[in-house]
Amino acid sequence: MISFVPEPHLLDSPRGRDWPPSPGAHGTRTTPPPATADVAIIGAGPAGLAVASALWHLGVHDVVLLDREGRACGRFFDRVDVLGQRVLRSPYEHHPGVEGYRDCELLDFARLHWSLLTPVERREIRMAQAGHRSVVPVDVFEAYCRHVATLHHVDERIRRASVREVRPTADGVTVRGDGFTVSAAYTVLCLGEERRSAPADWWDGEATPRSVSYWDEPVPPEARRLIVVGSGLSAAHLIANALGDGKSVHWVLRASEERYQCADVNASFFRAEGRARFDGTSWEDRQILMGGQRRASVMFEFRPLLRSAEADGRLTVHRGSTITAVTPERAGRAAVRLAGGEQVIGDHVVLALGTAVSNGEHLLPDGVTAPRDGWPDLDEQTLAYRNAPRVFAVGAAAGMVLGPAARNIDGHRVATARVATAVAAHLESAAVPLHADDRMAARV
Ligand SMILES: Cc1cc2nc3c(=O)[nH]c(=O)nc-3n(C[C@H](O)[C@H](O)[C@H](O)COP(=O)(O)OP(=O)(O)OC[C@H]3O[C@@H](n4cnc5c(N)ncnc54)[C@H](O)[C@@H]3O)c2cc1C
Repeated sequence: MISFVPEPHLLDSPRGRDWPPSPGAHGTRTTPPPATADVAIIGAGPAGLAVASALWHLGVHDVVLLDREGRACGRFFDRVDVLGQRVLRSPYEHHPGVEGYRDCELLDFARLHWSLLTPVERREIRMAQAGHRSVVPVDVFEAYCRHVATLHHVDERIRRASVREVRPTADGVTVRGDGFTVSAAYTVLCLGEERRSAPADWWDGEATPRSVSYWDEPVPPEARRLIVVGSGLSAAHLIANALGDGKSVHWVLRASEERYQCADVNASFFRAEGRARFDGTSWEDRQILMGGQRRASVMFEFRPLLRSAEADGRLTVHRGSTITAVTPERAGRAAVRLAGGEQVIGDHVVLALGTAVSNGEHLLPDGVTAPRDGWPDLDEQTLAYRNAPRVFAVGAAAGMVLGPAARNIDGHRVATARVATAVAAHLESAAVPLHADDRMAARV
């Protein structure tokens, strides 16, 4: 079989271009959150942005977005920038727009800014137009997110705030954080995923040793010999950056072999027929599908680079290696101990162990989330928590309803269509009961 491997230069795109500001941009407000709102959205990442934009189209304007970062998609761009990631993994047709409304889509937006793009970026647009897989610059995506946020008046509704608790009652939801309380009719949790921590037994004590950091933190520039742990795209970026800086790298993988693929889940799961594989199937079958699809993998574009670095000795790959301990060595060096007894020694260890879904458990009262294997118990049509019908989830938390694409930008559009339609319908007819049997379900 002939396999086509895209060229590594597709991974590069300029960052920080001077995009023309969207007309009418207000910027984020620094005022405290309002005391009341029809809808409080917690999290202003791509999921929160999609929900707020969809509600705007549906005429729901009394909306507040509460977000720790205080800006649209702030955490997403902080994360990709600390990794030096210049292109998205999702293609042009995935964007945080609104399902069913012909807003200017990501591809249209990129074409409108043709003069700002490099020849490689223009070629990728032509690939997308021809229906092939395409690579989207982070820079284009960020400018587009700003455009969507401005167009739908989202920026002006974002408040920098850390939410500590969400308390549903029969006729509303109380959202509290440090120094503020919002009483909302409905709340949508768009919490995303937190980075996965190392197992407690990898080192003594709670504090992370100084010679160890995580993928979303800067790598100390003085570390010449890096140990990267993990098999996903973040690990690949860390390795590529280190090699580019002339460092040598040890790559520790639990799997017997690294996996290369274009998207992080099979493309069919971004379409209705993929989601249909979830509908009506047992919990156990869904778990099998999720287990198979949520395995770490690296974009194909990295393969030539990583293979050649391994061949010339700049990269040493420890495949099929289970870590038993990470120990700080003398003189600030670190050692990773593997199950077979081998020790890998370097100046610094970076852990890229993936992310864990925020299911709302730390915000909602005990028993409301009713998690099964970590997944919250959600109504399959509306994505409302079954034990708190005024609280909804969009994003990775909806994974066991929508399938593996729920954690991706494209999955947010599908989840949003269900949630926004249900919320708008409830608001329009306060008489509509909120119980599952009678609920006006938004079928998408
Ligand atoms: C490096 C990297 C690259 C990725 N690339 C892609 C890609 O190319 N394509 C793709 O589809 N997906 C990609 N993903 C997955 C990506 O994270 C999601 O698609 C997207 O960010 C999820 O959006 P979200 O809004 O659900 O979560 P997030 O972007 O994480 O946003 C959630 C927001 O909620 C805030 N928040 C959480 N809890 C609280 C609280 N209690 N109070 C206040 N605020 C809170 C967070 O601070 C954050 O700002 C990537 C992920 C990473 C880490």
